Amino acid sequence: MAAPNPDTLGDLPRLGQDEGRTYRLGIMGGTFDPIHNGHLVAADQARCDLGLDTVVFMPAGRPVFKEGKVVSSPSDRYAMTLLATAANPNFAVSRMEVEREGLTYTADTLERLRELYPDNVELYFITGADAVLDIVSWHNAERIADLATIVAATRPGYNLDHVVDKIGSSGIDFDVIYLEVPALAISSSYLRDRVRAGQSLLYLTDDAVVGYIAKRGLYTGDADA
Ligand code: ATP
Ligand code: MG
Repeated sequence: MAAPNPDTLGDLPRLGQDEGRTYRLGIMGGTFDPIHNGHLVAADQARCDLGLDTVVFMPAGRPVFKEGKVVSSPSDRYAMTLLATAANPNFAVSRMEVEREGLTYTADTLERLRELYPDNVELYFITGADAVLDIVSWHNAERIADLATIVAATRPGYNLDHVVDKIGSSGIDFDVIYLEVPALAISSSYLRDRVRAGQSLLYLTDDAVVGYIAKRGLYTGDADA
């Protein structure tokens, strides 16, 4: 088992050096338009509860599910994700998906991470329970199931029964860990709506992100959904 090559890891966390132990890398995928405290709390709780070494946030370049909708530029979404996570040594942000051409597929990302990291680094893909419901129909779902453990963060008030049923009847051998995240019924859409209504974003996301949104004039155009 080869040690990770720092040259190829780029902005990804350095993990896997000690061949005598297992490392756990959390991957938080999303559009992050903008990133908010729901994302941050879910990632931190996954890290603590599952003993993840690092959580890497992966802003999607061209998110499949947002096709046809107005989405802020990858560079703005990347910048906000970086600002919101900068002070946390356990969080990282990768440009991997924003730099990849074409639509962003999670399977491609996990495939690439599996190539880059040695076998003693386990991959945990963190996602909201609403997204888990769709995961069975994601591009290359079987590959996703092979490559990573799925961590399904439940939003408040979310009934998991139909998620468990759908995963169970999918015929794909997903390894899913359900994670109750009691905090925060926040969504990016809610933040965008607040900006359009002239309302404050304070305490819904990092202060630096609040400032960035104002400075760049994001979310002041027509509603996108
Ligand atoms: P939008 O309102 O535009 O759909 P969003 O808040 O769902 O945005 P995304 O960037 O689409 O943000 O989400 C990235 C990931 O974070 C998804 O897996 C989503 O399910 C999850 N997520 C979003 N908000 C929360 C939250 N409050 N708690 C836990 N997970 C969340
Ligand atoms: Mg969403």
